[in-house]
Amino acid sequence: MRVALGLSPVRTSAGRRAQVSCGSSIGSDKKLIVVGGGAAGYFAAITAKREARSGDLDVCIVEQGKSLEKVRISGGGRCNVTNVEAEPLSLSSHYPRGHKELRGAFFREFSTADTFEWFESRGVPLKVEKDGRIFPQSDSSSSVIDCLQREARELDVELIEGRAVTQVNRVGENFDVVVKGEDRPMNSELLLLATGSSRTGWRIASGLGHTIVDPKPSLFTFKIPDNGNWKALAGISLQDCCCVLTAGGGAKFEQRGPMLITHWGVSGPAILKLSAWAARALGSNSYTAELNLDLCPQVPVEELTSEILRMKKLKNKAFSSLPLSMKETSFPRRLWGYLLSRQKIPEDARFSELKDKTLRKVALDCKRLALPVQGKGPFKEEFVTSGGVDLREVDLKTMRSKKINGLYFGGEVLNIDGETGGFNFQSAWTSGFLAGKDLAKRVS
Ligand SMILES: Cc1cc2nc3c(=O)[nH]c(=O)nc-3n(C[C@H](O)[C@H](O)[C@H](O)COP(=O)(O)OP(=O)(O)OC[C@H]3O[C@@H](n4cnc5c(N)ncnc54)[C@H](O)[C@@H]3O)c2cc1C
Repeated sequence: MRVALGLSPVRTSAGRRAQVSCGSSIGSDKKLIVVGGGAAGYFAAITAKREARSGDLDVCIVEQGKSLEKVRISGGGRCNVTNVEAEPLSLSSHYPRGHKELRGAFFREFSTADTFEWFESRGVPLKVEKDGRIFPQSDSSSSVIDCLQREARELDVELIEGRAVTQVNRVGENFDVVVKGEDRPMNSELLLLATGSSRTGWRIASGLGHTIVDPKPSLFTFKIPDNGNWKALAGISLQDCCCVLTAGGGAKFEQRGPMLITHWGVSGPAILKLSAWAARALGSNSYTAELNLDLCPQVPVEELTSEILRMKKLKNKAFSSLPLSMKETSFPRRLWGYLLSRQKIPEDARFSELKDKTLRKVALDCKRLALPVQGKGPFKEEFVTSGGVDLREVDLKTMRSKKINGLYFGGEVLNIDGETGGFNFQSAWTSGFLAGKDLAKRVS
């Protein structure tokens, strides 16, 4: 990879000082320009270079900041590269935007198993965690970054960092790529837009005639108002919770899995998944909805109610002691105390002193705790954008634009986003691979 050394370092938008390419490199004509040096851009550039038999496919990545920055911060610095789910059809079901469209050739051509093999064969040993997420054995995203950069360098991919592409114009069958601060545009025959969730990327795609599905955030936590002392429960986690969200217009979404109570609301895998599937509905409803939690899905409501009612017979049993079935599921005591306080039951009350009606309400609350969602939480562990280039306008076997000859797309710039768990990088690797392969075929 040639990081062309600049005549003078410039300050990037992030305020970093970066070496940029000299005028001759920026001004010269290219075969393929990749806009965006993220996961998808790198994977496409590497694949195109590797697969091109003629060897004369010059590939240049133009990156506005520092390349692979999202890979660096991903997975809490560990980079959740992909997921153990490898069967193409099941894999596509993890994409709220794309689950129908990605059922075809997309993952059949390059699936999670291929990603695994790709990195391992290039000296990045990976490990599978209990929940199916795959990380580098080093537990450091720098292993992934070093591998991608080494591969690109060896293949002589040119990298221009610290320069934003502001505009792309179609000139005949070619593209004029306008780089901020440069008088002369770069010119290329082929163009790949891999700009992630950047507004400029979507503006460029739209300027070239593509439809952009309105971008909205996905993968976020929910804010719950502190009525009834919710904050005091912060830190409680349930290994198994069934979460049902009813958003505007009655749209219902359901997910089951681990759930965490935080000082601003709820989080954890079940909630993040719910946010992904409900991202569009929540976005159109100012992030307000009703959340119903089944805190104890292993125990049916009738069973729990009759168990609680039976406990009335235990004359001196304090109500604060957990029913046996809930003890077995390691139900948190603090949460049980919260359910009692919602029915205004004093801590020292005895089962025998309470009315059946009150006891039934506690059981029902445990099975269907209704909470108002009033916004998104600040959780930023993983965050993606739903929306982007309309998939109907892209051939998902090759990532070619159906509208403009020579234009390709890869990664999050497209209207594809996945659940948390490595699925978002997987769509970036797959789309980058497919684009790269087709680009190579085209020039060979
Ligand atoms: C905090 C965080 C953690 C995450 N962790 C994970 C994880 O562990 N596993 C997972 O699967 N997903 C994770 N994701 C999601 C994942 O990072 C994205 O899905 C993935 O990076 C998308 O790849 P991409 O190449 O399409 O876009 P990006 O990685 O965003 O790359 C796009 C690049 O284009 C550049 N660019 C944009 N506009 C221009 C322009 N006009 N000119 C030049 N360059 C431009 C950007 O600077 C950027 O470098 C995480 C996201 C976040 C925010």
